[in-house]
Formats: sequence, C-alpha cells, structure tokens
Amino acid sequence: TTLPLTDPQLLRNQALVAGQWCAAATGGTCEVRNPATGALLGTVPDMGADETRRAIDAAHAAFPAWANMTARERAHVLRRMFDLMLHHQDDLAVLMTAEQGKPLAEAKGEVLYSAGFLEWFGEQAKRMDGDTIPGHAGDNRILTLRQPVGVVAAITPWNFPSAMLGRKLGPALAAGCTVVCKPAMQTPFSALALGVIAERAGLPPGVLNIVTGQDAAAIGTQMTAHPKVRKLSFTGSTAVGKRLMAQCAEGMKRVSLELGGNAPFIVFEDADLDAAVAGAIASKYRNTGQTCVCANRLFVQDAVYAAFAEKLVAAVRALRVGDGLQGPTEQGPLIDAKALAKVEQHVADATAKGARIATGGKRHALGGTFFEPTVLLDVADHMLVAQEETFGPVAPLFRFNTEADVIAMANATEYGLASYFYTRDLARSWRVAEALECGMVGINTGLISTEVAPFGGVKQSGMGREGSKYGLDDYTELKYICVGGV
Ligand code: ADP
Repeated sequence: TTLPLTDPQLLRNQALVAGQWCAAATGGTCEVRNPATGALLGTVPDMGADETRRAIDAAHAAFPAWANMTARERAHVLRRMFDLMLHHQDDLAVLMTAEQGKPLAEAKGEVLYSAGFLEWFGEQAKRMDGDTIPGHAGDNRILTLRQPVGVVAAITPWNFPSAMLGRKLGPALAAGCTVVCKPAMQTPFSALALGVIAERAGLPPGVLNIVTGQDAAAIGTQMTAHPKVRKLSFTGSTAVGKRLMAQCAEGMKRVSLELGGNAPFIVFEDADLDAAVAGAIASKYRNTGQTCVCANRLFVQDAVYAAFAEKLVAAVRALRVGDGLQGPTEQGPLIDAKALAKVEQHVADATAKGARIATGGKRHALGGTFFEPTVLLDVADHMLVAQEETFGPVAPLFRFNTEADVIAMANATEYGLASYFYTRDLARSWRVAEALECGMVGINTGLISTEVAPFGGVKQSGMGREGSKYGLDDYTELKYICVGGV
C-alpha cells in the first residue's frame, strides 16, 4: 500500500549505520504490516550481530567530536530536529498509525511529545553544571564535572515508536553521547524517519545509528557485550529487561530500564465521578490499553461502585473502534495476534473465576486484532487481570472499603510504575500519594506523561528516570576533581 505522505522520503526501508543508509549484509529483509488491515507497508533490513558491531564502532568513532562540541551547538541540532518533527508532524503521524494502529490524533500527539524531549534536553544541555565544594583542607579546592557516559545502546518497544526513542535520544545527544538503537520490529519506520530527520538537522554521521532485525537477542547480545558501549537504555517487558541487565553486569555497563507496570486507578467515594470516568477512559483505553502506565486495576469504593460503573460503561460503549487512519477513531487494533490472545486469556480467566462482563468482552466485529472495549465487574485479586499487565482495552473493577484496604491492594504487586487516584480530600491526597509504592502518581488526572517531569518506576518496573532535569543524570557521569597546593 502507498501511504498518503507529503514527503515520501520519510519512509525508509534501509537502516542507518555509520551515516549510511544500508541493507543487511545478508540482503535479508523483514516485513512490516499495518495491524488494522494486515496490508504490507514495506520491509526493513534483517540485520544481526555484524551490523550491530559496525554501528557501535561508528558511534564510538563519532563520540569525541560530538562530545566536544559546545552544548549550544548540540542544542541547535536538537532544536532543528524538533522543528523538523513539527514540520513533518502529519507525515510522521500517518507512518506511525500505519505501523502501530493508534488513532491518528494520538499519533500526532505522540510526535509532538517525542519532539518535546529533543527540545527540552537541547535546552538542558546548556545547564549541565558542576559544583564547587569547600575543600576538606585549607590548601585544596573541590569541584565536579558532568561528562557524557559514552556510547549508548537503546532498545525500544512498539507501543510508542517515536516517543520511546525521542525520550532516549534527547538526553543522550544533549549530554554528548552517541547512540546505537534498535526499534521493535513491529514499528521500525517511525524510528527510521527520526534518522532521516536527524540527518537533515545536521546531526553528524555515526552519532545516531539505527539497526533493524528480527533477531533481537543477537543484536542485544552485541549491545550488552561490546566493550565500547557504556550504557544500555531499554524500554520494554520486565522479563527482557532483567535479561539485559544481567548481560550488562559482565561489562559493568550502566542501565536505565523502563519496564512493565500494573497501575492502580483508585476512585474514592468523595471523588468527582465524571472527572474520574474521563480520567479512566484516557488512562485505560488510550493506545487500546497498550501503554505501560495504563490503568490496569480500577479500585472503586463501595458507596460509589455502582454509580461509577454505570457511568464508565456508558463512556466505554461510546468509544469508536476502527482503523486509525480512517474517520474519527478512538480505539485502534491491538498490535498483533499475541497481544489479542493475551487479552482474550485475561477475560476468559476472569469470567471463569466469577467476574461479570458489563460491556465488550470479545473480539470486535471488525476482525483482525480488534477487541471490544471492555469493562469487567466483581473482579478479585486471584484473577490474572489483577496480577499481570493486560495491555489491552479491558477495565477490571475491584471494590474496596477503606483507604487502608485500597493502599494494601494497590501495593500488592511486584510492579511500581504509575498510580492514579481521584479524591477531593487534600489530606487524603498527601497520605495516599506518599503510601503508594510507585514512581509516578496522578491525582485527579489520568494523563501524566510529559518531557518536563521524571518518568520511571520502582520495584520490578525498573530504574532510572526519563524526562525533566533529572533525565540528564542517566546519561552523564559525575567526575570529582580535587585541586591541591592552593
Ligand atoms: P513486548 O512483549 O512488548 O514486545 P519486549 O520486551 O519483548 O516487549 O520488546 C521490547 C523491545 O525489546 C523490542 O525492541 C524487542 O525487539 C526487544 N527485545 C526482545 N527480546 C530481546 C532480547 N533478548 N535482547 C534484546 N532485545 C530484545
């Protein structure tokens, strides 16, 4: 299929290694399909260990010159990337919706969000300040420098094909690091388009390399074993994150891991129920429930359980499901058959154990990987939906009695990424926000992601923070200098 792109050059079927757009050494390719229609969008090179090593060598060679540019010069390149992304926002969104399935409006929003990291960190590059510290003896002085960690390997998932890369590229490039990245093979075109944009913005060859290939383990093994790579930044599943962290231990590489979540979304009896429903829709059904910060468990206090459920079901029934490129779609397909199978399994397990389907609950009449927006009632903690990330458009409603009960229920998970709650009680807001074991809390909001705030998790949701002034820390080393004989 041909996509309606104003600038067809943004769709690349080659990978970017050492400043060259190239094919795999073997000539092999991988197909990329539109999850809404099954249509073939194109192919990308099926690269492996050799190309990854070449990309790492190129990033290593490009590092000194990039790191030694002034922060202002690097900031200008990032600013041009930001401007170009906004200029091509519509094309980039079409590409993303075609390969990922999310509604076009969400894709446009993601392009802006992704570009925001390049803008923000370009500005922060100029503020990579050190300290002067009063010396520990009369004749010495102490100071600190922040220096780029070196070559960064970045592995990204398919749910936010542009933003998960922008979030790593912004701070890495701002700090003076060079990058080898591997996008998920469901959605490589958004990443490759960023490579085109980087090139046009004047990013020097070798500073950003993009390797594509279906043998993720072969590419990941090179990235984690190669001595020239100093840091790995990964967004994806907890299982793969643990494996990559173990692989990084051998070479003592730094790691940033943004992994799975199991977000609680709590509705207290004093909440504004309409606001809570709007927040739940935004948090749960955005990207068809395929975000790591999606509400996964909705806890509703006894007194408002029935009223909240009724309002939520009405809002969910009104969601328009369809091809993200066609019409006013609010919910697209799931990414692939594996994702669909998991959602079906979670619903089947819940109903077998006593949950009731209030709406949805099965594959959508549109076929393919479309699933009906679903609400489950009478859900309990021994069901899969309580323990695992469903990563689909299923809202399980749990009932709770007291604040203490719900905090215990919310924290009864190995994950700790996002949490949300709705209340109009100020003191409760503080108590609950402090008691939740997670990296991020949304109070009276279902949307929390922005480049100006630190995104990241605790427990098995990972480590490190992306975005905000803290985001640069993951890509810099602090060097202490002691000056004697003063
Ligand atoms: P999901 O199940 O959501 O696809 P994954 O963690 O499997 O999550 O995928 C996230 C990213 O990690 C993708 O780019 C994928 O190709 C990559 N990946 C998967 N397995 C490995 C591995 N063994 N080594 C390196 N990268 C991997």
